[in-house]
Amino acid sequence: SVRTRFAPSPTGYLHVGGARTALFSYLFARKHGGQFILRIEDTDLERSTAESVNAILEGMAWLGLEYDEGPFFQTHHFDRYQAVIDELLDKGLAYRCNCSKERLDRLRDRQMAAKVKPRYDGHCRGQKIDADEPHVVRFSNPIDGYVVVDDMIRGRVAFNNNELDDLIIRRTDGSPTYNLTVVVDDADMCITDVIRGDDHLGNAARQINILKAWGKEPPRYAHVPMILGNDGTRLSKRHGAVSVIAYRDQGYLPEALLNYLVRLGWSHGDAEIFSLDEMIQLFDINTVNKSPAAFNYDKLDWLNQHYIQHADPLRIARLLSPHLGQLEIDPTTGPDLVDVVTAQAARAKTLKELASISAFCYRDFDYYDADAAKQHLRPVAREPLIRLRTAFELMALDDWQPESLHHVITRIADELGLKMGKVAQPLRVAIVGRAASPGIDITLQLVGKDATLRRIDNALN
Ligand code: GLU
Repeated sequence: SVRTRFAPSPTGYLHVGGARTALFSYLFARKHGGQFILRIEDTDLERSTAESVNAILEGMAWLGLEYDEGPFFQTHHFDRYQAVIDELLDKGLAYRCNCSKERLDRLRDRQMAAKVKPRYDGHCRGQKIDADEPHVVRFSNPIDGYVVVDDMIRGRVAFNNNELDDLIIRRTDGSPTYNLTVVVDDADMCITDVIRGDDHLGNAARQINILKAWGKEPPRYAHVPMILGNDGTRLSKRHGAVSVIAYRDQGYLPEALLNYLVRLGWSHGDAEIFSLDEMIQLFDINTVNKSPAAFNYDKLDWLNQHYIQHADPLRIARLLSPHLGQLEIDPTTGPDLVDVVTAQAARAKTLKELASISAFCYRDFDYYDADAAKQHLRPVAREPLIRLRTAFELMALDDWQPESLHHVITRIADELGLKMGKVAQPLRVAIVGRAASPGIDITLQLVGKDATLRRIDNALN
């Protein structure tokens, strides 16, 4: 049965490119009723960190990309890698090499001068080099012919074997190298489909050669094109947030980010909105675009807005709390957060923005929006505000409901011969500090009677 894996190196946070390959691997496994495995490629001891491992696990958990096995750590498999290298040596599929740095440098210089691609010349192949003297182990790459990567995204890509090096699979210090560890784990874990970034396409050719020599069936491959920023260069911090956890902290919903990522280089007719179940059903790795896709922050915002608006308000309320906390607002000190979310959900692109535009429900604001104040808090607004205040003050707390509030406002507009907006907009700016909020009656209800009277007083002073 199908088995896929996500194999990040824990040398930084989980970035959106990694999350996208993880998602594709996950969807592929789920679609085919197979398994999805998480493998942490932590053999680079200098660059791998525990924080990075945690960031990856946290990002995967937040996105809801559940793995069936793992996390496995490559550092736990060192004995196995050594055993496979020894086996390749015993079978004559690999050899020890003790070429000096000087020799390799000279070789390289000569090749560069002759304008040929620098590669090891196989000098130590077939020589008897003692295991006790310092050496590396190289894989005996086939000397001629081609190796073909039959890629699910890129199609058939052929590599001429004479362009592939006799790859070092064990360093002088005894540590196994990247291509060897990947090959061993993919084989041992019975991975059927390798889905990863297309910076590894060339490695696929090397890995296929090692697997075949070792007598293993290579997996199928799908190399996913990279993600670009809006300027056509590889997506990086310069373009905006790239870490998955940063998106969480800015108030994106995981389903919005997943939906965004699945559409990056893949489409299904005109459909834009995909639940995870729909993705599993419809996603087809074979139809992923070969060319890189550009990250579009506006589109992500649009999707996030959609999901905030359509999610269960109770869940949004729960997720919103920490964002209000960051504004030093305790949501238990004001209107029910679920009511606030229901009134506001259509108005914010992120939870952070939702918190910021909802602050007025919990505390007085410090400043009026300058344009709003200039336009709506003019001297002509005094009379309506004074009348509103008097009428509101007389209302019983039980009556402080949208319908009665609406009544009061229309009555006063009628008395003054003003359009509703000429009364409601000054009131809104007085209560919210800005010219935009939910319906004025709902806004007043959320703010409550005391704060409404107080803020009208502030506007009149
Ligand atoms: N550890 C590699 C990386 O993070 C991925 C290797 C693979 O998927 O085969 O780029």
